Amino acid sequence: MQKREMPASSRRRFTRRQIMRNRIIFALICVAIIVLIASFIARLAGGKNDEPSGQNEGEALSGELSSPAPDATATPKPYPVDMTDWRMILVNGSNPVPDGYTVETQLADSYTGKELQKEAAEQYAAMKEAAQAEGIQLILCSAYRSVDYQTGLFENEKAEWLAQGYSEEEAYNKAATVVAIPGYSEHNTGLAADIVTPEYQDLSEGFEDTPAFEWLSQHAGEYGFILRYPEGLQDVTGIIYEPWHYRYVGVENAKYIQESGLCLEQFVELMAE
Ligand SMILES: [Zn+2]
Repeated sequence: MQKREMPASSRRRFTRRQIMRNRIIFALICVAIIVLIASFIARLAGGKNDEPSGQNEGEALSGELSSPAPDATATPKPYPVDMTDWRMILVNGSNPVPDGYTVETQLADSYTGKELQKEAAEQYAAMKEAAQAEGIQLILCSAYRSVDYQTGLFENEKAEWLAQGYSEEEAYNKAATVVAIPGYSEHNTGLAADIVTPEYQDLSEGFEDTPAFEWLSQHAGEYGFILRYPEGLQDVTGIIYEPWHYRYVGVENAKYIQESGLCLEQFVELMAE
């Protein structure tokens, strides 16, 4: 059978049309593949954030993909805590109180006359009252300290080590493990509270055996206070175990920090990842 020859011009047109059509088909296939890959990635990323339950799988199958895909580049934070919250400020041996830091303080304990930052003072007063209702007396023996006052405390501590025969440098370093370097103390923020009780007014480890410590361990978080320098974490906090030193971080933040089981340094690091 003999094929009917097309005229050369229409053959060229036909070929051009065919090439054009093939290009469009190719482009459509490419777009379809990209859409498929994108929705697959979105589903993977979305699935990671969800609780592993049958319900979510069902939702995904019944077209939940129309909701905007989560930003795959943002690592999900383990706790919903705003780390720029002023209550979350980290002050320690390597993080001084920021330049120009100001704090509005108010009386927190009328017995000792000690002051804390306004909100922390109100929360402390509420905590003290709640403890009192259960027969526990809390004494706020140290709270807000100006940098000048901190300087005096530090120099006194250093002098004690010098008197024991330590060198200037050794005495400085020893003092820094007991009293924070001026400007590097949480007490300079107005958010730190040293709490004792009438039966035990020493700032020493024995405080942990008092009913007051027991009560604080259970309830301080409810008022936004956390134990700031837990036992065995001197390498992380730079400060010895201080069962009497509490830090105001706010009720919500305290809840999440306690839930994490981490000290403030560790929590800040975790949230920075
Ligand atoms: Zn303290």
